Amino acid sequence: MSNKFIYVFGPSKTEGAADMKNLLGGKGANLAEMCRLGISVPPGLTISTEACTVYTEQGAQSIQKLIEADVKQGMAFVEKEMGKKFGDAADPLLVSVRSGSRASMPGMMDTILNLGLNDEAVAGLANKSGNERFAWDSYRRFIQMYGDVVMGLKPESKEDHDPFEVIIDEIKEKQGVELDTDLSTADLKQMVNEFKAMIRTRLGREFPNDPWEQLWGAVMAVFQSWNNDRAVYYRQMNDIPGSWGTAVNIQSMVFGNLGQNSGTGVAFTRDAASGEDIFNGEFLINAQGEDVVAGIRTPQQITLEGSRRWAELALVSEADRAAKFPSLEEIMPAIYKELLKTETALENHYKDMQDIEFTIQEGKLWMLQTRSAKRTGAALVRTSVEMLKQGLIDEKTALLRVAPDRLNELLHPVFDGQAIKKARLIASGLPASPGAATGQIVFFADEAEEWVAQGKDVILVRQETSPEDLRGMVVAKGILTARGGMTSHAAVVARGMGKCCVSGAGSVRVDPKARTMTVDGVVYKEGDWVSLDGSTGKVYEGKVPTKDAELSGDFGTLMELADRYKRLAIRANADTPEDAKVARNFGAVGIGLCRTEHMFFEGDRIKSVREMILSQDEAGRRKALAKLLPMQRGDFEGLFLEMDGLPVTIRLLDPPLHEFLPHDEAGQTAMAKEMGVSYDNIKHRVDDLHESNPMMGHRGCRLGISYPEITEMQARAIIEAALNAKAKGRDVKVEIMIPLVTTVREFNAQAKVIRDTIAAVFKERGVEISYLLGTMIETPRGALVADSIGKQAEFFSFGTNDLTQMTLGFSRDDIGKFLPFYLRDGMYEQDPFQSIDQKGVGLLVKMAVEKGRAVRTGIKLGVCGEHGGDPASIDFFHRVGLDYVSCSPFRVPIARLAAAQAAISN
Ligand code: ADP
Ligand code: MG
Ligand code: MG
Repeated sequence: MSNKFIYVFGPSKTEGAADMKNLLGGKGANLAEMCRLGISVPPGLTISTEACTVYTEQGAQSIQKLIEADVKQGMAFVEKEMGKKFGDAADPLLVSVRSGSRASMPGMMDTILNLGLNDEAVAGLANKSGNERFAWDSYRRFIQMYGDVVMGLKPESKEDHDPFEVIIDEIKEKQGVELDTDLSTADLKQMVNEFKAMIRTRLGREFPNDPWEQLWGAVMAVFQSWNNDRAVYYRQMNDIPGSWGTAVNIQSMVFGNLGQNSGTGVAFTRDAASGEDIFNGEFLINAQGEDVVAGIRTPQQITLEGSRRWAELALVSEADRAAKFPSLEEIMPAIYKELLKTETALENHYKDMQDIEFTIQEGKLWMLQTRSAKRTGAALVRTSVEMLKQGLIDEKTALLRVAPDRLNELLHPVFDGQAIKKARLIASGLPASPGAATGQIVFFADEAEEWVAQGKDVILVRQETSPEDLRGMVVAKGILTARGGMTSHAAVVARGMGKCCVSGAGSVRVDPKARTMTVDGVVYKEGDWVSLDGSTGKVYEGKVPTKDAELSGDFGTLMELADRYKRLAIRANADTPEDAKVARNFGAVGIGLCRTEHMFFEGDRIKSVREMILSQDEAGRRKALAKLLPMQRGDFEGLFLEMDGLPVTIRLLDPPLHEFLPHDEAGQTAMAKEMGVSYDNIKHRVDDLHESNPMMGHRGCRLGISYPEITEMQARAIIEAALNAKAKGRDVKVEIMIPLVTTVREFNAQAKVIRDTIAAVFKERGVEISYLLGTMIETPRGALVADSIGKQAEFFSFGTNDLTQMTLGFSRDDIGKFLPFYLRDGMYEQDPFQSIDQKGVGLLVKMAVEKGRAVRTGIKLGVCGEHGGDPASIDFFHRVGLDYVSCSPFRVPIARLAAAQAAISN
C-alpha cells in the first residue's frame, strides 16, 4: 500500500489515468483519463480504494486522520480550478461525493450531490446564480440525498414510501402540480423546512450545517456503502472480492437544474440491447443527477432518429413528440454535435462501447462519467463482430470480449410467431432487454424470491426498480416497470444480467399495497400470468408458448472465428438422434458420450430391463436381453445416421441397477405378473439388490464383469447398428467405452467380450468396420495406473463427475447440504462439480494424460463430465493438452468460444 491516498483531476493537473482502476476505481480512473483527453470534466479529487480498506479495517477516525491533510489540499486545488471556496457563504463551491469501485456496479452504492450547501450558502448561491428557485431546488435535493445515504432515513417498511417523497407528494398535491419542475421557490423552501423537521423528529438531531462535517459524513458513508447488503449481494453474484474496496470521488458540481438551457442525460455509443451501431440515450431538461435513470419524468431521446423510434413504440404521434418530447438534436443542435464528437472520441479511444453521463449547464456540456457499457449477450456479440469489421479491434480482442456464458442468452427461446399473433396484447413499453418471459405477477423483490423458491416462474412488476430490487430481478423470468426509460435502473441492470425487461409501460398502473396492476380498467392480481417480449416491449396476457432461437449472422461469424483459434475439438453428450441433431447444429464435431441406459427408460423397455435384472440366472437374463437388442440397435443406428462422418462414443451400461428397479408394491406386482413369478419372489429379489452405497456399488464395468451377457448384447447392438448405417452409405466412426475402470484387468476382461462379439458379427455379416475401444478414466485408481490401462485402451475419456466425487469423497447428490457453508467460508472457491478442482482432481487428469501419452502415441484424450462445458475448466483442459471436451448440446457454442479464449490466453 502506498501512502498516497488522494489523486486530483482537472484542466491544469491530473494525477490519475485509465489504467489505474484498481486504485482509483473505474469512475475515478476514467474521469482522470477524460481530463487527459481534454474533455470538459468538472475538476475534483479521488480518494483511493486503499483508503476504503483502511476504513474497513481500522474505522472512520483512523482513515480521516490519515488523509485529512491531503483531502484539504486536494480541495484547495479544486477551489483554485473553480475560483470558488468550499463553505463560502457568498459564492460556495459545491461538490458531489461519488463512489466508484474497480468493477462497475451500477447504482449499487450511493452518490450525494450539491454538498456544501447550508442555510447561508443557499442564499449566496441564489444571489450569485440569479436563480433563487435553482438554489433551493439544489438544497432540497442535497438534504434528501444526504438524509437518505448518510443519515439513513429510509422507508420504514417495504410498502411504505420514501419519507422525503411523502413530503414532496404532499406539497405537490397541495399546490395541485404534477411535476417537480412545476414547484415554486416558496414550495421548495417549505420542502427544505419540512425535510429538516422530519429529520429532527425521527433522529433527534439537526441536519449538519458545517460543510466539512457534511463532507466527512459523506465520504465515510460511501466507504460504508461498500459493505451494504445490496453491494455485498451484487459482488457475490459477479464474483467481485470484498477486499477491493471502493474509491470516493469528490467532484465540483455542474448544474443541470439551472433552467431551460440546462439538463442532464445518459447515453450509449451503441445500442445496449441489440448492439446496433447507433448513438442513443436519454436526457431531461432542467434536471439533476439521477432524475433520468430514476424514471421520475419521461425522459427525451438524444437523437432525432432515436426519438422517432421511441415515439413509435410509446404510441406518441409525431406532432406530440415534436412538441412535448423533442430530441436533444432538435432543441440544442450545437450541444448535440459536441456530444456526438465526444462519444465518438471516447469509443475510439477506449476501443469499446461506452456508457456515458453528461450534464448541460446553461449551454455548456460537461462529461461526468464514461465506462465500458453493460449490454446483452446479443449486443456483446454484435458489437464485437462489428468493431472487428470496423477495424477498431483485432480478432483476438473480439473473441476475448464475449464472456462465453453470455452466449446462453442467444440460445434462449423466443416467442412463437403464430402464438404471439393470437395472444392478447395488454400493454406496450420499451424493449429494454430482449428475451421472452412468461410468469406469474409479483410486486415485491422478496416475494419474487419466495415464489421462485417454491418453484414458480415470476414476472416482477414494479412502478420502477431500485437497487433494493436486485434479488428479485435475479430470480424473476422477466421485469416489467410502469415508469422509466431505456436507461432506467431496471433496463440497465436487466441488460447486464441478460434478463428480459419491458420498462416504462405507461398504461400500467401499479398498486403495490393492493397487489394489483391495472391496465385500461382490467385488473391483474398477484399470481396472474403475463408474458413479456423484451425485444418489442409488448406485454401479453397469460402464457405465450416459445420456440428455439435461430443462430446465424454475427453469432455465426463469431463462432467461425472461434473455430479458427481453438485447438480443442468440441463434442456433445447426446443420447438420442434429436440431441445429436441439435449438437451438430451448434457445431459439435462428434458425440463424446452416449449414455446407453438413457434409452432403457423409454416406453415398454423398462419392463425388459427389469426382467433382465430380476432374473435369477443367465438364461433368464439372456431372454430379456434378446428383447432389448433390437431396440438398442435401432437407437444406435439413429445416432450413427445423424452423426455421419463424425465420431460417436458409446458408453456401456453404467448406473447402479437399483435405479431401474420397481420400489413400490404396484410396480413389483406388475413385474411379478410380467415374469410369471410370485410377488414375494420379486420383492425378495429387489431387497437382495439393495445397496448401502450404490454409487460405489454394483455399477460400471462391474456389471459387465458379473453379467458378461449384458456387454455382449450391447457390443452386438452397437456394431450391427454401425454396419446398418454403413450399408446406408454413412461414414460411421464407432468408439466403444468401458466405464469405471480401476485396473487394466477389468478393461481386458470386458475388451475380450466386446472383441469376440464383434468378430462374430463381422463373420455373420461378412463385412467389417474399424472401431476404437477405450475407457473412461473416472476413478482415482484408474488415473494412477493410466499407463498400464493406456497400453490396452485406445482412448481415454475423463469422467470428471465421478472422478471429482471419488477424489474429494463428496457425494454429488448430497453436496447441497454442506456446499453452501464451504463456499461461504472459502473452503472451495467454486462448486467442484461445476468448475473442475484444478489443484486436486486436475492433477489426476494431468498425470493420467502424461501416462497415457507415454505408453501410446496419439492416444485420443477427452473429457465428458459436466466440466466439459465450463469455461474455466475448458481453459484447464486446454492447458493439460486434451484433444476434445464434450458437453451438453446447448453448451457447445459456449465451449467453442471458451476453447478459443483458452488458446488465445495461454
Ligand atoms: P452511479 O455510480 O450510480 O452512476 P454517479 O456517481 O455517477 O452514480 O452519480 C449519479 C449522477 O449524479 C450522475 O450521473 C450525474 O448525473 C450526477 N452527478 C454526479 N456528480 C456530479 C457533479 N459533480 N455535477 C453534476 N452532476 C453530478
Ligand atoms: Mg454514474
Ligand atoms: Mg461415471
